[in-house]
Amino acid sequence: MLQVNNINVYYGKVEALFNVSFEVGDNEIVSLIGANGAGKTTLMKTIVGINKVQSGNIEYNGKEISNQHAHKTVYDGIVYVPEGREVFPQMTVYENLEMGAFSKKYTKGEMDDHIAEVYDLFPRLKERSKQAAGTMSGGEQQMLAIGRGMMSDPKLLMFDEPSLGLAPVIVDEMFRAIIKINESRKTPIVIAEQNAFMAMSISKRTYVLEVGHIVTHGASPELLNSPDIKKAYLGG
Ligand code: ATP
Repeated sequence: MLQVNNINVYYGKVEALFNVSFEVGDNEIVSLIGANGAGKTTLMKTIVGINKVQSGNIEYNGKEISNQHAHKTVYDGIVYVPEGREVFPQMTVYENLEMGAFSKKYTKGEMDDHIAEVYDLFPRLKERSKQAAGTMSGGEQQMLAIGRGMMSDPKLLMFDEPSLGLAPVIVDEMFRAIIKINESRKTPIVIAEQNAFMAMSISKRTYVLEVGHIVTHGASPELLNSPDIKKAYLGG
């Protein structure tokens, strides 16, 4: 459904992605792993239209979307949940969720249904629906960022470092929620992570980025057993 073909992306004169090709199939969870600064965020922001492609192209369901405006890409159903959550701190949980649907013209009933779906996935958010988002824990804010991403009825979800800074028990909860979204809605999901083990454990396929290059890709269970990957990304 998504095909990134040989893209090159620059920040000014500095190249950040070199001939990167990347694919996501229907219903698939794909992980993108790599160290700090490898280019994971750059790739996701390029797919969504925030960064520009210098050469190569991006196709989504057969349609060329390279360099299209980000709001159009969101309208097409590609949703990027950024690293660091970026919830609106002064707004309540409920209002943040409503903001996630800004590109849609939902009826009151549709809005309620989408909010109910998010609350079903994260009951904690329901309990805190009137609380200002900025006063919540990091884990709760991450749940809200994911929930907000779901509000626009995404056809492809991309999560940037969803486990960043979270306690292990919350990380488990987050990854279970991601699996549930994929299984219940059949939404394809891309997860960029430094927590390679978790991301690879729940994904079908993995791409490894190193300083702007895809150095390896393949089935996640196979890469989890690869001595090179173990040494570089799995702590032995
Ligand atoms: P992290 O896990 O730290 O977010 P990442 O794999 O997502 O890492 P990117 O944030 O995509 O990596 O960064 C890739 C490269 O591009 C890095 O060398 C980074 O310094 C550079 N870079 C990222 N954003 C910008 C920017 N706005 N201007 C200039 N260079 C940038």
